[in-house]
Amino acid sequence: MRGLIGKRVLVSGGSSGIGLAAARRFLDEGCRVFVSGLDPAEVQAAVTALHPFGDITGQAFDVSHEPDVSALVTAAVDALGGIDVLANNAGIAWREPFLEITPEHFDRMLAVNLRGMFLVAQAVGRHMVDRGGGVIVNMSSTNGIAGEEDYAHYNASKGGVLLLGKTMAVELGRHGIRVNTLCPGYIRTPLNASIAGAMSDGDFESDYIANRIPLGRAGLAEEVAAAYAFLASDDAAFVHGAELVVDGGQLAVM
Ligand code: NAP
Repeated sequence: MRGLIGKRVLVSGGSSGIGLAAARRFLDEGCRVFVSGLDPAEVQAAVTALHPFGDITGQAFDVSHEPDVSALVTAAVDALGGIDVLANNAGIAWREPFLEITPEHFDRMLAVNLRGMFLVAQAVGRHMVDRGGGVIVNMSSTNGIAGEEDYAHYNASKGGVLLLGKTMAVELGRHGIRVNTLCPGYIRTPLNASIAGAMSDGDFESDYIANRIPLGRAGLAEEVAAAYAFLASDDAAFVHGAELVVDGGQLAVM
């Protein structure tokens, strides 16, 4: 991808799954990377695992906790000397029928997936305005576009991320900050493994894939990481305020 060598990249939720693959991809593209996640041991494990591939540092922070977000951005700026690219990726998910979702569960989902994404984007956005530009890629989902059953709280959070990103694009473009949104479909990561594992039906994943994904397989974290790299690169210089769907055709199914 053009224009990525030497870029300083913050990957929130970079200790696992898609974020971990994105951190690796950015290192392979010649970027310097700072990863965060919730569990300090996971973040340290990610830094250790990625160390052979380039300049990687990281620290644990809770994106739903405002003081943590300020500390996250300060730590990343200190480690990298600035932030050119934000992969705003941290998120949580679990299945729960709409009629059973408690207000506390709804609040937790929104606190991490929407409010946390807003807090990180705003703190990094202010930094990017001061330094004269940058690129932000927010993580939504196909669940931000269509309503999958048993995910009302998750769908609401990811739908919010989509319009958060569009509004950021409208307001931040004039500051030289490009903002786009990723919408992956079913990607094989620890997040989905834990959801599928919690289902009583052991054939959950194969049924899901056969019925819903025209390419006939789950996506790979590396395939979403490639989309992160594209949106962050100069190859996407005129892509702004858009959502990029990476779903094996899932949203094309009627
Ligand atoms: P994952 O493997 O569970 O990774 C999630 C990452 O977010 C981890 O690094 C996790 O840290 C971090 N995180 C969770 N809560 C956090 C918090 N409060 N503060 C800071 N970091 C936190 O999940 P994934 O599948 O890669 O998902 C990554 C993103 O892609 C999420 O936003 C998810 O909604 C989105 N997405 C995933 C899929 C999919 O099919 N997998 C599809 C569409 C969109 P810890 O490990 O320390 O908790």
